[in-house]
Amino acid sequence: MTIKENDIFIVTGSDYTSEGIGLAKVNDFPIFINNLIIGEEAEIKITKVMRKFALGKIIRFTKMSSDRITPLIPETIHLAGCQFTQLAYPKEVEYKLSKVERALRVIGGINYKVEKIHAATNPYFYRNKTVLPFGKRKSGKVITGLFRHNTHEIIAMEKTHLDDELASKVVAEIRNLIEKYNYEVYDEKSHTGEVRKVMVRTSHYLKEVMVVLITRNEETPNLDAFCRDLVAICPEVTTIIQNINDERTNVILGKKEKVLYGPGVISEELHGLKFTLSSKSFFQVNTLQAEVLYKRVLELAEITNNDVVLDAYSGTGTIALLAAKKANQVVGVEIVKDAVKDAEKNAKQNGITNVKFYKDDAGAFLTREMNNYNFNVVFVDPPRKGLSDEFVNALLKASPPKIMYVSCDPATLARDLQKLTKKYKINHIECVDMFPRTAHVETIVGLILKK
Ligand code: SAH
Repeated sequence: MTIKENDIFIVTGSDYTSEGIGLAKVNDFPIFINNLIIGEEAEIKITKVMRKFALGKIIRFTKMSSDRITPLIPETIHLAGCQFTQLAYPKEVEYKLSKVERALRVIGGINYKVEKIHAATNPYFYRNKTVLPFGKRKSGKVITGLFRHNTHEIIAMEKTHLDDELASKVVAEIRNLIEKYNYEVYDEKSHTGEVRKVMVRTSHYLKEVMVVLITRNEETPNLDAFCRDLVAICPEVTTIIQNINDERTNVILGKKEKVLYGPGVISEELHGLKFTLSSKSFFQVNTLQAEVLYKRVLELAEITNNDVVLDAYSGTGTIALLAAKKANQVVGVEIVKDAVKDAEKNAKQNGITNVKFYKDDAGAFLTREMNNYNFNVVFVDPPRKGLSDEFVNALLKASPPKIMYVSCDPATLARDLQKLTKKYKINHIECVDMFPRTAHVETIVGLILKK
């Protein structure tokens, strides 16, 4: 039976996609259905048929789950991949653990019972970085919000369910000032308008706020007055940056930046170390859960003062600097120049001298330098695409006694572990729920070289 647009079926939610959208099957053919929880039964209508899956829309529920909750912010039911705002949080955590075990089994051929998942104390308002697009109503009212599922239509939201509430408050004042100074908001289709997006970074402990206003032109009028007003209304704002992005692109930040107010960076404290961040450096978005992650990964690594440690994909140097307190020597490698500069500054301001950072591709670096350094512990914390083949090959050749893999994507983790377990034994796996109310999960794996 072929499935066609407008077909109607009664289906049962059996899983979620990697973005947290409900998944049901009709004759083994996957249908993605927003807002369907595992175990729920609904009458659906097929809205689009692709080669490998179809999209469906709920007409009515025929059986609802007792795991369903009312979303904290009602608009979130229209967003893509925000499924879990309707699912009781303990169920989300349970699901994530099983998702990691399944990825290891199905993709990596590894049967392993994950020891633990660290749930978040507060699964809402945790994000220390937000990027929001601007829109404008016919009335002239400026809005910010998130995109409606499968569209580029902005759903106006006073505050979002994930962002730090201080950031939402600052964004509300920015909307008012955009109206006051009559800035045109950017229109994707015609590539016109002035203000594109706003990025806000907040520090959880030090309470500093960075505002990055992304404009299409460099000569946005009245920016001095705009900044003066913003700081007067929101004294929490410690720095304001103008980022210029004139490209027709989804990439958020352009190359050129001007610091309009303050030092152009913000600082945060983690486990007693001070980190200073620029607009483009990577920093874990959930500060409290990042502390759990770093604490566990360092405990499990059991570093001693004889160890020579590599922190590959080191970002602003978080893992490297925490490891340096215990190790003999630490080397960090990171591809983004600004992040490396931040990492060097962070080492200096914390008085840490036994660490060195390289700006390089992790794979190229390890291939070239493995004989110059005799690493005994290697941390890897790659982006979602996981480790490059070059890096895995170099790692297997270098054969450090211990590898600590921090992963934000169970699928690429499973793929990489399949290769690494030829020489390594899995010693420990724990998950940290860094991204509550989304489908993403962080995993820590401890690997020991087989004898
Ligand atoms: N360990 C850090 C950063 C992890 S995020 C922390 O906990 O904060 C992954 C980092 O890998 C990012 O900073 C990204 O810029 C960097 N990266 C991406 N591709 C890379 C590559 N090929 N070589 C080295 N670093 C890379």
